Amino acid sequence: MTDESETRTVEHRPPEEAFSLLADETRLAILRELSGVDEPLGFSALRERVGVRDSGKFNYHLKKLLDSFVRRSDEGYELTLAGTQVVGALLAGTYTASVSLDPIETDGACPECGTALVAAYEDEHAKIRCSDCGNVRMSFAFPPGSIEQYDREELPLAFERWVFSEFAQATRGFCPNCSGRLEARLELNEDEPEVKSAIEREVAYLRYHCDRCGNRMLVSVDTLAATNSSVVVFLADHGVDVDDIPSWELDEVLNANVTEIVSRDPPRVRVSCELDGESIGVVVDETAHIVDIERSDA
Ligand SMILES: [Zn+2]
Ligand SMILES: [Zn+2]
Repeated sequence: MTDESETRTVEHRPPEEAFSLLADETRLAILRELSGVDEPLGFSALRERVGVRDSGKFNYHLKKLLDSFVRRSDEGYELTLAGTQVVGALLAGTYTASVSLDPIETDGACPECGTALVAAYEDEHAKIRCSDCGNVRMSFAFPPGSIEQYDREELPLAFERWVFSEFAQATRGFCPNCSGRLEARLELNEDEPEVKSAIEREVAYLRYHCDRCGNRMLVSVDTLAATNSSVVVFLADHGVDVDDIPSWELDEVLNANVTEIVSRDPPRVRVSCELDGESIGVVVDETAHIVDIERSDA
């Protein structure tokens, strides 16, 4: 073991082979049953749970799943990572659920026209948008199977928490879609507002991109600043609990919140906020990381 590359082996199995193994009701039932247990299951216990009497037939299907989706150990059968993720996708409703939802009014107001913002679910995307002028504050894929787990009035906050959990993954460098390595950069507005979304009309925004699956996220620099621990403490010191305020209402609370360009090449911006005569500013660099924090009496 002299070279790091010699110690790492990744074998890729053909995906068409793996997916064709799943085209069977009994096999999907096996995966579902194995996902709900704390300990590996023995052959008979698993067969009983799935409800197949014919042990030969059951064994045939179970064997098909071995190595790809199910692992056998001395203790019994359990899911592999792929098996766990297939069950996760089935429960999330990614392949199977279809949802319609009447828009839900929120306490936020549209920054363009002042009308109430609504939380809507359209084309498998959760959206926080204006009910009048069409301005979209946020739009992101949300698993349809999770909608039914919340009451209507809980959904706007559930959308918010979901997008922040995806953002937390992105800021740590993992693609929320395929778990691949994510590239991040800061982009400055180049002033062509007619072709751009609301976020691209901001002074600057963060772009996260996965080369492997093409997934991309555009995120406001304010969002990055608002998740920084020094900023959270600053706001708490001034009576603002960021956990209590949805991000689409944060602008109104932080009405002195400004983003200014520190340099164009490489791109850098400072996001600052002033409350009760005190201020905090964070500098975001070209890789979408916070590189400097200044807190001072204004
Ligand atoms: Zn509006
Ligand atoms: Zn990806």
